[in-house]
Amino acid sequence: MSDLVGTLTGMWDSVLDLLFPRRCVACGARGWPFCGGCWQSVALLGPPGCGRCGRPFEHAVEQCRDCPPGPVSWSRSAFLYEGPVRRSLMRLKFSGNRSVAEALAPFMAAAVIKERSPPRDTEPVVTWVPLGRRRKRVRGFDQAEALARSLAGVTGWPARQLLRRVVETTPQARRAGAERKMALSGAFVATAPSPERVVLVDDVLTSGTTAAECATVLHGAGAKEVGVLSAARSLGGPVPLRCYNPPGLQPGSVVAREIASR
Ligand SMILES: [Zn+2]
Ligand SMILES: [Zn+2]
Repeated sequence: MSDLVGTLTGMWDSVLDLLFPRRCVACGARGWPFCGGCWQSVALLGPPGCGRCGRPFEHAVEQCRDCPPGPVSWSRSAFLYEGPVRRSLMRLKFSGNRSVAEALAPFMAAAVIKERSPPRDTEPVVTWVPLGRRRKRVRGFDQAEALARSLAGVTGWPARQLLRRVVETTPQARRAGAERKMALSGAFVATAPSPERVVLVDDVLTSGTTAAECATVLHGAGAKEVGVLSAARSLGGPVPLRCYNPPGLQPGSVVAREIASR
């Protein structure tokens, strides 16, 4: 019986492959989640590195200059924000291409489970840094929510909206640190009492100012630990070469299978 189910599932998968061939989420060539060419410019962020923020170094350190601000307990990111990863997140953000979230979520799960595997009885709740209502309406899509829901699907952790953005801030790229902090203050409110352990998802982690503002609000609503998990991280300095094209992490390899079987 299970053989029959297996065969039927296999056939169905082949039909889906024919109808929707899985294409590289960065460039559209054949390959999943990235094609062979794109994989070579993808940097996966993994240990050894900073215990608090996961920034890779040659040796393990407890914290580093790039750590996000205090209210964030820890942070992890799957990839360096550049090249194909940057392109794929643009596709998620501006074309609402959900397969990008599906493609990146197993790597986000791997980044957090490897080092921060929680005991079963204190599983965290997954939430996200929400877009403002107006921007969500214009775009029709919240990329951080899509990543959070895909992550919940991979890990089995529940996903819940715990924050609402009440002030639509202007794009932050050109603001300096203090000015950025001011602009964000009061931008988020809690929509419910917060569970004790929260994993806050965003697409890109840069300085961590936005995440820190969200963490402050979540702490005010009852959270004891707010960790941040992003698909990608924007870093000023270089990362060790070992992060590129690592052996054993090719499409459909150990990471994806290990997570899929959890
Ligand atoms: Zn590609
Ligand atoms: Zn750090």
